[in-house]
Amino acid sequence: MLSVLFRVPALFILLNLLTAPLRLAAQSSDAYLTRIPDPKRLGETYVSNPDGILAAATVAELNTTLRALDQSGRAHIDVVVAQSIGEAVPKTAATALFNRWKIGDPTKNNGLLMLLVMDQRRVEFETGYGLEADVPDVVCYRIQQRYMVPALRAGQPDEAVRQGVAALIRQLGTGSFEEEAASGVTLGLTEDTAEAGSTDAELYPEAPTSSPLLPVFGTLLIGLAALVLYSTLWYRTTQGHPHREALALVILLPFGLILLAFFSTGGLNGWLLLVVAYLLPGAYLWAYFRRVGRTLIQQYAGRSRHAQYTYLRQAHHGLGFAPYVFPLPLVWYWARHQQQLQALRETPYSCPSCSRPMRRLGEDEEDAFLQAGEQVEEKLRSVDHDVWHCDACQHTLKLNYPDPGTEAQPCPACHYRTLLDAGRQVVTHATYEAGGWGWDMTRCRHCGHEQKTRFTTPRLTRSSSGGSSFSSGSSSSSGGSWSSSSGGSSGGGGAGSSW
Ligand SMILES: [Zn+2]
Ligand SMILES: [Zn+2]
Ligand SMILES: [Zn+2]
Repeated sequence: MLSVLFRVPALFILLNLLTAPLRLAAQSSDAYLTRIPDPKRLGETYVSNPDGILAAATVAELNTTLRALDQSGRAHIDVVVAQSIGEAVPKTAATALFNRWKIGDPTKNNGLLMLLVMDQRRVEFETGYGLEADVPDVVCYRIQQRYMVPALRAGQPDEAVRQGVAALIRQLGTGSFEEEAASGVTLGLTEDTAEAGSTDAELYPEAPTSSPLLPVFGTLLIGLAALVLYSTLWYRTTQGHPHREALALVILLPFGLILLAFFSTGGLNGWLLLVVAYLLPGAYLWAYFRRVGRTLIQQYAGRSRHAQYTYLRQAHHGLGFAPYVFPLPLVWYWARHQQQLQALRETPYSCPSCSRPMRRLGEDEEDAFLQAGEQVEEKLRSVDHDVWHCDACQHTLKLNYPDPGTEAQPCPACHYRTLLDAGRQVVTHATYEAGGWGWDMTRCRHCGHEQKTRFTTPRLTRSSSGGSSFSSGSSSSSGGSWSSSSGGSSGGGGAGSSW
């Protein structure tokens, strides 16, 4: 209940964050489509520089490099540097230009468009379907952040484009965009080796040997799973804790770190995130169980087996999944915990009057010793009663074990844990003019005592014609041009960065 309330907004924010670029793509104005020339029409080139922002030498160098890349068959990269695209959204423009120019080989869909919009201070990469595995969106984003944004902020678009292209080529060649991983393949060297006649296949192997980054989808799934795991742990391990809300922040901290690392410029890769996301809650659970063990020794040492059992069971309630998620430390712990519970509950008591061991009665035998209300509790499984009986002197000992997961509440009239939800009674239905109200009913299954709590429902509203901003939807991706016969198409893959 609480945990659900807690979970949903966080999920919503996360999803919202991740789909924002797609939703923005819904609007456009497309004068730029005709103003920016297709580099292919500029005599088999790869750079469209309509406002002369890049120096002529840079354009020539890029053309040489990108032609070699294109002829190798690995990828076709077009670079566009525009002063302005008016009011259009850069991501939309990148998708539109990509599909208009049909960048890349029609069968491999290996096109990539790098778009810089100077007045909006925005860089976008648009990748064809065929490149999305080799150059996932998160890699696009990191290349922009690490190699392009610093130069763009320093007012050096030439340097930004050269660095960005070089990083993309490293990524395509070795599966890593980082300089250390492929220090040989820089822009200059590419030219030299191409001139020296080495084969393109060596420079751009068809498939990268290993991808150091998890795909975006996997990272997202891990993030969601971590969020659910963390909020469940928080909810289950902080019952009755005086600083519960503060603890929620502590347990969300690792999740924040994961999000931060995901959107940050680099260094951390997906596998490291996975390990952190897994180890932190495991360590937290381990510390929690240790604290429970200490509390048992310090505060329950002199108390009855029944009190110890009840505390332990409550402290472990809802955590039965833990040994499956963290088998390494917890399978052993959990088995010992079960043994401990069993010993606390089932070790025979010795009779207080004659000291002989007593016998625990079976469920059918014990009814004779239970009150009617206790029998109802047994039937509802809200409380289990153990009856210990001394066969020598007929002494009996009764112990009650409430189920920590039960929905039954103690009845204020008869005090048995037999008060259960009995549905809603609507007194006045809500209309367009006024809200409604009614009673939430609870009824004791033993004595019949009823309790009502008033609830209200809000006035009905007619859906307005404006519609919610959400309904514009994330279905605006440009995959429709798949059917084009003479060029690549993009499903809206890629990433963008502001500077
Ligand atoms: Zn029983
Ligand atoms: Zn006895
Ligand atoms: Zn009652």
